[in-house]
Amino acid sequence: MAEADVVILGGGPGGYAAAIRSAQLGRSVVLIDEAEVGGTCLHRGCIPTKALLHAAEVADTARTAAQFGVTATFHGVDPEKLHAFKNTVVSRLHKGLSGLIDALGITVVNGCGRMTGPTTVEVDGATVTGESIVLATGSAPKVPQAIATSDRVLTSDQALELATIPQSAIILGGGVIGVEFASLWASFGVKVTIVEALPRLVPNEDAAISSYLERLFRRRRITAKTGARVTDVVSADDAVRVTLESGDELSADLLLVAVGRSPRTADLGLAEAGVDLDSGFVVTDDKLRSSVPSVYAIGDIVAGLQLAHRAFQQGIFVAEQIAGRDPDAVADIGIPRVTYCDPEIASVGLTEEAARERYGEGVETVTYDLAGNGRSQILKASGAVKLVVDPSGAVAGVHMIGRGVSELIGEAQLLYNLGVKAAEAAQLVHAHPTQNEALGEALMAVSGAPLHLHG
Ligand code: NAD
Repeated sequence: MAEADVVILGGGPGGYAAAIRSAQLGRSVVLIDEAEVGGTCLHRGCIPTKALLHAAEVADTARTAAQFGVTATFHGVDPEKLHAFKNTVVSRLHKGLSGLIDALGITVVNGCGRMTGPTTVEVDGATVTGESIVLATGSAPKVPQAIATSDRVLTSDQALELATIPQSAIILGGGVIGVEFASLWASFGVKVTIVEALPRLVPNEDAAISSYLERLFRRRRITAKTGARVTDVVSADDAVRVTLESGDELSADLLLVAVGRSPRTADLGLAEAGVDLDSGFVVTDDKLRSSVPSVYAIGDIVAGLQLAHRAFQQGIFVAEQIAGRDPDAVADIGIPRVTYCDPEIASVGLTEEAARERYGEGVETVTYDLAGNGRSQILKASGAVKLVVDPSGAVAGVHMIGRGVSELIGEAQLLYNLGVKAAEAAQLVHAHPTQNEALGEALMAVSGAPLHLHG
């Protein structure tokens, strides 16, 4: 029977961050995971998809090289080498993470854990006791009941490992996963159709960003059917056939189901241990403590943004509390959001609609088109930076779209989270020529002193 100050169930970004910070603060830690440490993010999510998306960018660069005066020919994608590249990145990071966990003296238990009481977890018949327990079991792709997965109907888990590049694909869900795979596959020459139930792609983003994305995806020949519902899915030998409520019939080599992710809280003994759940999510207070005082929950099993960096932050937050500190939490609205399709999307804070709902009159917005930004022109990056400013003049939201804008989110999140006034930030110098200048121009424009903008 093992004992530790902190027992963590789940070794993804939330769980391993809690383990690392707990160990750094002198606590003994047992980290339990049925698979390898790193979780969805490292093995089936953020890292492998971004590796593939980088390969997609390389394919596009080769295909469009002539526009830049460079002679090159795009011959195609070699799936075996593509996966080798992706897997090398994943295994290097996994090795680094395992080494760090080992060096900090964290005990890793490989097995499926289940709570048997407020301070006990059973793993393969053995009991592990922790003064505090941290639940960090993550999420899994959601598949509507009416849809059966098959070798033609996939979730992102299988889509990441395709041995061949399909000729055509239908993607159910125009959220983050949907648009990232649409972008990736379109770059590899796949004919992509997205079916999204709501009236616009990326419906959680500011409406202006959805409009830009839809326009730029059209230019890339990605078809988006918005406000569309699926009534039937049939996997046949030669294709998958999808019927929409409108009567339209679509068929393709593959269907990717990307309609969200469900918290993994079933069969963990949570209800029996007294841990309250709501729609599968663990109910927590503002300290991420569950209804059982010794048990905390972090990451995708806590309702809100399902993002690796939110889980990191929550893991650190909980570990510091357990070690007797009094850390501050970052609210979900202050957490940066990045979608790695081409064009990239990066945002933080309130959308214009949410700001108007919160503040009423007096909300200002400005949209600076990347057409006016030198560096974006060099990169052939179309898109925009949209700023939302509250009635006090503070930056209430930053919404960006365009190739390369993911790297601008650092400044944007400081502006939002530090409550900086747009007029003050407008006086800071943005290096030339950078895409960062687009943010600087938007700050100047919303403060009434634009430089490279009329009106
Ligand atoms: P999502 O919530 O981002 O998008 C799901 C989309 O599917 C929504 O737009 C929804 O309206 C639509 N939808 C739901 N049911 C539908 C139906 N029956 N027919 C058609 N459309 C339907 O979820 P996701 O894209 O599956 O991603 C899951 C989670 O993983 C998200 O929280 C996401 O933020 C996270 N994630 C983040 C990143 C990133 O940060 N870059 C990348 C991948 C995933």
